[in-house]
Amino acid sequence: MLHSKPREDNYLQKGLRKQLVQVLRDKGIKDERVLAAIGAVPRHFFLDPAFERQAYEDRAFPIVASQTISMPYTVASQTHLLDLKKFDKVLEIGTGSAYQACVLAEMGITLYTIERQRELYDHVGQFFFLKKYSNIKRFFGDGFEGLPSFAPFDKILITCGAPFIPPKLIEQLKPGGIMVIPVGEDEKQKMLRITKDLNGNLKEEDMGDFSFVPMLQGKSNKG
Ligand code: SAH
Repeated sequence: MLHSKPREDNYLQKGLRKQLVQVLRDKGIKDERVLAAIGAVPRHFFLDPAFERQAYEDRAFPIVASQTISMPYTVASQTHLLDLKKFDKVLEIGTGSAYQACVLAEMGITLYTIERQRELYDHVGQFFFLKKYSNIKRFFGDGFEGLPSFAPFDKILITCGAPFIPPKLIEQLKPGGIMVIPVGEDEKQKMLRITKDLNGNLKEEDMGDFSFVPMLQGKSNKG
């Protein structure tokens, strides 16, 4: 549950967060800028107070509207693969809890993020912690469409399992840009890093198996 009133970030929670950063380091995350961003975002703010301790375990968690907050290892891996540069213009598909959005925003980029579920979109809108980030711009919409009026983007990150690589998102990627997208309709998806060169040619790299909730077509006004 995302609260509208500020919550505490005390020594216990800060200590647990340091341990989480160490766990990610042990699992092979070496990107110091990404580790610093994870260390800067109080993940317990994104979960119910009853789960404060578990907030710093490296696991996914259910949030509202049967969606999940991604595993810290997954958030760190995707963020690293984007190879972010200061002032990059980044598009994220699947705002969810906005945890990944805040980690990206900590890296000094401008983020455009889309959520297809009205309930989640509205819920995140009243979350006190997001007020810290004027560099996060949220949209209610269908990620398959992207955001043509704000394109092109230096980087595009998809945080749900895509059935295929959405052609409109490829169009909205700048030459020289990078897209990170988990593709596959089974329980596991292949994390692809797609690089568009200056001539518009695409290079695809397989970065291993991950697990996400599905990327679904169209908006949902439920809730
Ligand atoms: N980045 C999120 C991950 C949330 S899970 C976080 O850090 O918490 C993935 C999210 O993608 C869900 O909220 C789901 O509703 C959303 N989603 C699925 N298909 C989508 C689409 N076509 N467009 C936008 N969002 C989508």
